[in-house]
Amino acid sequence: RAREATGSSCHFYTADMHNRVIDRLNTEVALYRGLERGEFELHYQPKVDLRSGRVTGVEALLRWNRPGFGLQMPDRFIDILEQTGLIMDAGDWVVREACAAIRNLPLSLAVNVSPRQFQHPRLGERLMRILDESGFPAERLELEVTEQIVVEDEQGAIATLHDLAGRGIRIALDDYGTGFSSLQRLKKLPLHTLKIDKDFVMSLETSRADAAIVRSTIELCHQLDIDVVAEGVENEAAMTLLRSFDCDIGQGYGICRPQPLGRLVEWLASATIASAAAGSAVQPG
Ligand code: C2E
Ligand code: MG
Ligand code: MG
Ligand code: MG
Repeated sequence: RAREATGSSCHFYTADMHNRVIDRLNTEVALYRGLERGEFELHYQPKVDLRSGRVTGVEALLRWNRPGFGLQMPDRFIDILEQTGLIMDAGDWVVREACAAIRNLPLSLAVNVSPRQFQHPRLGERLMRILDESGFPAERLELEVTEQIVVEDEQGAIATLHDLAGRGIRIALDDYGTGFSSLQRLKKLPLHTLKIDKDFVMSLETSRADAAIVRSTIELCHQLDIDVVAEGVENEAAMTLLRSFDCDIGQGYGICRPQPLGRLVEWLASATIASAAAGSAVQPG
């Protein structure tokens, strides 16, 4: 009987695996076509200076309008873009599209760069070509990378970061505190900005430990001349605490959700989110 049970569950599992392989292949083909057919779009999420209330910039976040499936979030397809190498073309598209969208707004632009994109031997040249064609100044572009980029080749990654910084492009370390964050590494990487992961920020008010981590990370960064962005600012209470910790920039649903360009522009025009604690209002520019 035991054998029977095992046999049947094994059979079931195989069918399930079969379906997953088919799904995966379909998704790969659909992604490839989606890139050709212009099914991708960008949503933009503002970043706000917590002292002045001013909007300093936006982060571009990729969405895929997959026919028959609706709007797909990155967790459904970024890994597949990476594994298939399609991320290179997708990444170029993201930078080109975002530069065109944001060029005439008084804002900086942040784009996410995944490890595979980062390992491209001529990343700097590749980006500069797009910036030139877009008429977008390198100084207004920030690349958001994670510590994942140093896993395989730390020296190579550091050299690439220096190359990018030398071209005027700013570097932000994203999702800080989640992976295998090391202070040794923080010291070595040429960073302009550090983004504290939303896991810590979302539990600021309820976890003394998380509050302590956020506060001391901000202090450490300031000693190292690194600006700090708190991701996942969901409410006024978190904003107030972050201000008291002297955090530079906030980003999160409590300020503004990622949204298409049209709605971003509307939001910027009418941004009157009162930030009670500082008595300042969120304002563009
Ligand atoms: P990320 O760069 O850390 O982006 C932050 C994610 O948190 C975004 O999810 C954003 O919508 C979400 N978020 C923002 N504020 C809040 C908040 O207050 N609360 C909560 N719970 N979440 C918030 P999204 O857009 O689903 O993107 C997920 C990840 O996908 C990004 O994480 C980034 O690593 C990756 N990604 C997005 N666009 C691109 C892209 O163009 N290229 C590459 N390589 N990766 C991308
Ligand atoms: Mg990011
Ligand atoms: Mg992040
Ligand atoms: Mg993330």
